[in-house]
Amino acid sequence: MIVNMLESASEEQIRHVVERVNEAGYQAHVIQGTQRTIVAAIGSGTRHQVEALRHAPGVDDVVPISQPFKLVSRQVRPQRTAVKVGHVPIGGPDIVVIAGPCSVESHEQLLATAMAVKQAGAVMLRGGAYKPRTSPYDFQGLGPEALQVLAEVRRETGLPVVTEVMGTEDVDLICEYADMLQVGARNMQNFALLRRLATVNKPILLKRGPAATVKEWLLAAEYLLSGGNSQVVLCERGIKTFETEMRNTIDLAAVALARELSHLPVLADPSHGTGRPSLIGPVSRAAIAAGADGLIIEVHPCPERALSDGAQSLDFEGFARVMQEIETPLRRVAGNRAATSV
Ligand code: PEP
Ligand code: MN
Repeated sequence: MIVNMLESASEEQIRHVVERVNEAGYQAHVIQGTQRTIVAAIGSGTRHQVEALRHAPGVDDVVPISQPFKLVSRQVRPQRTAVKVGHVPIGGPDIVVIAGPCSVESHEQLLATAMAVKQAGAVMLRGGAYKPRTSPYDFQGLGPEALQVLAEVRRETGLPVVTEVMGTEDVDLICEYADMLQVGARNMQNFALLRRLATVNKPILLKRGPAATVKEWLLAAEYLLSGGNSQVVLCERGIKTFETEMRNTIDLAAVALARELSHLPVLADPSHGTGRPSLIGPVSRAAIAAGADGLIIEVHPCPERALSDGAQSLDFEGFARVMQEIETPLRRVAGNRAATSV
């Protein structure tokens, strides 16, 4: 349930409502809006005790949250959330482009890629240190060595870095090096991992599982928010369908829907979403048109030699071309967003 406070509600009145919500057995979450404060009663408790708060001083009304995801829902937080990664806000007026190799392979490879993507307009760097591979015989990532390379290249280029975390045992180490932790598609419903990540003070990039519904994806995000980490960015990366010409089917309607249902920023990943470099430009434009807050794109100095996902990676020239192709929509959207401050 949501307790909507009046614009004029005092700190003390808000504190009183929080106490009463907790006494009723719920977890109280205070959401500071631009105009007024909302106290969300999350979990299970004695419903009528919260309903009765509609008569408490400073309270406007008490309404049920109809969605199964609560803190993630726009019902609880109507204004959009911006998540800051280093100095880069995701979900603000500017659409962010994150780019880099699927896997970190060497310092030389990552630095060259970082410089090229930065030059072309990317504001964040991606690179896998721990790789979820379908086959155990495929390259599994350089692990801790790759984390050091990511941190060095961040120092050298100023680009904040995002890298995937696959297991709870790696969380502390990755937090020492990365600016943002990615939960990969295969781990979207790894609840032990989500619970652990709810306790860290780092933003999380939560990819949609290849067979997950939008509701399941938002409920996975709810694990993070309800456990205390509200710095969550969603990412649509394609789902499994009967289509065989593309690696996955990128669901751009889900980008728009996730933004409609949730206040969290939503990115699109046209690399994993299509598996085809030739589709990255058009799908990026479509994702921007659908409202995506940003893109994450795989780039490699020589895709042919990449140790993972070379077939879908752009080379430097290809990435620069995509950035040119999206320049006009990026500028237009940034203008609109700044004007409406969504
Ligand atoms: C990746 O980003 O390289 C990756 C493995 O992504 P996903 O989890 O979407 O497959
Ligand atoms: Mn990849």
